[in-house]
Amino acid sequence: MKFLEIARLFSDLENTSKRLEMTEILSNFFQNIKDGGDFSDLNKVMYLLQGQLTPNMKQFPKMGIAEKMIIDALSIHSGVSKSKIVEIKNKKGDVGLAAEFILARKKKQKSLIDFESKGQQQGSLDISEVYSEFEKIALTHGPKSSDIKLGILRGLMNDPLETKYLIRIIMSTLRVGASTQTIIDGLALGFTGSKQNRDIIERAYNLHPDLGDIARILAERGINEIKNIQIEYGTPIRNMLASRVPYTEIPVKLGIPFIAEYKLDGERLQIHKMGERIMLFSRQLLEISDQYPDVCEMIKQNIIAKNVILEGEVVAMDAFYEQMLPFQVLSKRRRKYDVENISKEIPVCVFLFDLLKFESESYIDKPLPSRRKKLEEITKEREELKLVNSVQVKDVEELVSFFNEARKKGNEGVMTKSIKADSVYQPGNRGFLWIKLKGLEGGKLLDSVDLVIIGGFYGEGKRTGVFGTYLGAVYNPEKDDFEAFSRVGAGFSDDMLKLLSSETKKLKLEKKHKKVNCDDKPDVWFSPEIVIEIIGDEITLSNKFSSLGYSMRFPVFQRLRQDKGPTDITTIDEIENLYQNQ
Ligand code: ATP
Repeated sequence: MKFLEIARLFSDLENTSKRLEMTEILSNFFQNIKDGGDFSDLNKVMYLLQGQLTPNMKQFPKMGIAEKMIIDALSIHSGVSKSKIVEIKNKKGDVGLAAEFILARKKKQKSLIDFESKGQQQGSLDISEVYSEFEKIALTHGPKSSDIKLGILRGLMNDPLETKYLIRIIMSTLRVGASTQTIIDGLALGFTGSKQNRDIIERAYNLHPDLGDIARILAERGINEIKNIQIEYGTPIRNMLASRVPYTEIPVKLGIPFIAEYKLDGERLQIHKMGERIMLFSRQLLEISDQYPDVCEMIKQNIIAKNVILEGEVVAMDAFYEQMLPFQVLSKRRRKYDVENISKEIPVCVFLFDLLKFESESYIDKPLPSRRKKLEEITKEREELKLVNSVQVKDVEELVSFFNEARKKGNEGVMTKSIKADSVYQPGNRGFLWIKLKGLEGGKLLDSVDLVIIGGFYGEGKRTGVFGTYLGAVYNPEKDDFEAFSRVGAGFSDDMLKLLSSETKKLKLEKKHKKVNCDDKPDVWFSPEIVIEIIGDEITLSNKFSSLGYSMRFPVFQRLRQDKGPTDITTIDEIENLYQNQ
């Protein structure tokens, strides 16, 4: 398939913000692929639609191309001076749009003979050629690498529309705007003729979060094969997540009795043990086994099962394994070099809380007590490996006293979980079988809120040169868009402001992102990508943020949430609940 076809699809999708229209566009596109009968590039199409080059659990090697190099290549290629390109880029919003504009204008100038001869090959790249050029860029190192990369970039600059998207992919700023949910709707309609099959496809995606594989199986073998997809070793499933409700309602939601566990402040691990081979996956489903060689070894030694899939939270500990340390300490383990030393410096303990597969049997459809029982049977507990503390609770008083104990011991709060017959593990779902509780007292909001940054205000005084205040939004899953919620200017260290400024600059937009609803007017708009956690005094009714109707009083930045994507943030329903609960 030609990359130009994908570029046209992206452009059509970008021109609407309506989910139904996007579904229609996608479905027609898939229908054409189905009629054509060639599915060889379908997996790559799916990753690109998700704004990626690879499935969720893999990372494409870094291309190491800065915007400056793209401007150099564009300048040599088009004859337009670098300063002019920068000017156009600033006006248009990003270098992809600038390239599209410049190449389109050049295309019109028939007198440019050299350019015309190139123009005859417009859109000539196949998707697989694009991938191999990208691989070449990533694999090019050494003294001459800049020249070689520059040459490859020039070779990629043909059709204006195509070039816009190629540049965005290279810069990791490709966002087509269709959520995975909408893409799944399009797959169902395009390949099976009925949107009703979307739930079957979504279930399969939750168990096997590689949309490329799912689309190919659907295209080649049909919806019945999709029904057969199961949890498998070596492929992480999407995590089950927890909701929030007012704590007095937890017993009503979960039924009595329910269980309460410590909510540990570490990093979630999905652990796949396949004989001697151990694979660890992060909350974002990336393989992070290399970061935790000590954990892999310990699982090998202390789990009595040949093959098993477990879930747990890895937490940094003090040298005596007596005190749990906060997440900030654990995050120092996130590095690729000197791993052995840092694992000695920062010892960890894995607290297991779930079991998803045991030998050849899937456990996700079994109730939580059966999963926990098997987990207890196969775990040899020791300092570095424990089961998470879990108690049965029958009323609010017992819950409050367990919560206080959990907080005293340095936990974030508690996770409460249903143990009824239907307390299955729901991959990829934030339902009401798990409910988290981080704050109790009325009056002040003790729970944190995750926002995606949508805009920035230039700083003054000490903060000149960086953004001093950010504008954050919460998520509306129904409409798949973002509602502005609060300005955040407090709690940032100087280093954090510097980091955020350089990261957000890459996401600068000419105007408000089409998926953002906001009455406030920041100096600069950003594509909604970067997630931050904030706390505040209370949720207030707000005229300023009128589309949502709520805002936060005295918001304070807590931390960057690199483990979360924009659709993982706090939802408008959660804000409503937090407001009611105050
Ligand atoms: P938060 O923003 O509160 O850290 P989250 O949005 O990452 O949470 P939630 O579903 O809200 O995800 O909370 C579940 C997270 O809490 C899990 O991803 C896991 O990392 C962590 N956790 C800590 N203790 C437990 C536990 N006992 N059971 C399940 N998850 C736990």
